[in-house]
Amino acid sequence: MSARRPQHGSRPTSIAASAVARASAAPRAAALTALTAEIAACRACPRLVAWRESVAADPPRRFAGQRYWARAVPGFGDPAARILLLGLAPAAHGGNRTGRVFTGDRSGDFLFAALHRAGLASQATSLAVDDGLELRGAYLAAAVRCAPPGNAPLPDERDRCAPFLGRELALLDEVRVIVALGAYAWAAGLRAISVLGIAVPRPAPRFGHGAEVRLGRYAMLGTFHPSQQNTFTGRLTPVMLDDVVGRAVTLAGG
Ligand code: SF4
Repeated sequence: MSARRPQHGSRPTSIAASAVARASAAPRAAALTALTAEIAACRACPRLVAWRESVAADPPRRFAGQRYWARAVPGFGDPAARILLLGLAPAAHGGNRTGRVFTGDRSGDFLFAALHRAGLASQATSLAVDDGLELRGAYLAAAVRCAPPGNAPLPDERDRCAPFLGRELALLDEVRVIVALGAYAWAAGLRAISVLGIAVPRPAPRFGHGAEVRLGRYAMLGTFHPSQQNTFTGRLTPVMLDDVVGRAVTLAGG
């Protein structure tokens, strides 16, 4: 696990006009690094801060003795990504433990295997922040950056965290395809696109596995979330996820 970042209270701010400007690669990477640090230090939601720390203090036996990240979990991936994959929130004993989204849990195992098959990930597993995994042409983030009780953020927590996604999307100015992993991420993606000034129709486009909608410069795709609830029951199979990821690669220009 990487060194812990300093922790201090902060709140996400609105999208800065400068962030929307087309950035060259180096400033974009630097801005993403700064945003990553800001997210990791955020303590704006008291309920989620208490939860992420309490699960770290009382881990299940299989993780006993491990030092949990227990902070907000930033996005990660290729700053020049053309595909953004968006989840709901870090898992209490996944991203909240390892410090990287979809890392160290069964959902991540399923997702990264698909990304590896599609050529978007350097390896098929995502175990720890220092495992050497790199994303190529893809960026991975969550709608809410702290693990919530029952995987269910409250509306005010969702809204407080939403600007982080908007700012990330503004900085990731080569992204052309957003893959929403589940209905919650679908709604968060639509909100982020709207905040960037792109018209989203009313009623909003409906989520579904394989759903596809064009919104300004973005194509948005939906897939069932790779949760154990879906993958263990066969509601989401590797082939189904491969189809959506493959479509994203095609829409992103290969
Ligand atoms: S959910 Fe988002 S806004 Fe709330 S504490 Fe975590 S990072 Fe901050």
